[in-house]
Amino acid sequence: VGEQDARYLISLIRSVPGFPKAGVLFRDFMPVINDPRGLRIMLRALRLALPVPEDSFDSVAGLEARGFLFGPALAANLGKGFIAVRKAGKLPPQTVREEYSLEYGQAQVEVEVSAITPGERVLIVDDLIATGGSAKAAADLVERCGGTVAGFSFVMGLDGLEGTASLGPIPRARS
Ligand code: AMP
Repeated sequence: VGEQDARYLISLIRSVPGFPKAGVLFRDFMPVINDPRGLRIMLRALRLALPVPEDSFDSVAGLEARGFLFGPALAANLGKGFIAVRKAGKLPPQTVREEYSLEYGQAQVEVEVSAITPGERVLIVDDLIATGGSAKAAADLVERCGGTVAGFSFVMGLDGLEGTASLGPIPRARS
């Protein structure tokens, strides 16, 4: 996207100190989703900044909840399907589950085994990468279902924290 669009997009992201707990600077991208121009620019930016060529993956997997807000739209733009990485306990069997540590707390996520076919190449998306723990858990689930992770796309990255939990050599991008 052009510089003007990039500046506009960044201007929509709200920073909230002390949410959801003291010491966290929460980056709120809901105003982007809420704004017609912002939403369009963000989807274009994600597509332009893909970490791997469009034809090198088969589907897009998004993390609940904010990865659900743009993952399916990005997938549709690319002509791909969407895989939901949900919080534990929401999906019917058969599922696989991973537990991991968040910047603020613990979490468990699940994927339906039938959502991924063996050998399927998956792009994992989320709004923000902090330690990378969520993305790593999603990647482990994709692999346990027989898929391979083609890359990671994030709207934002937190400098300093980014990738503390190793995502290995898999390509990644932030828009
Ligand atoms: P992590 O697993 O540490 O990479 O954390 C990333 C996940 O936690 C993403 O799903 C983000 O939505 C959320 N998250 C972590 N830190 C922040 C932050 N400072 N602002 C907004 N979301 C955050």
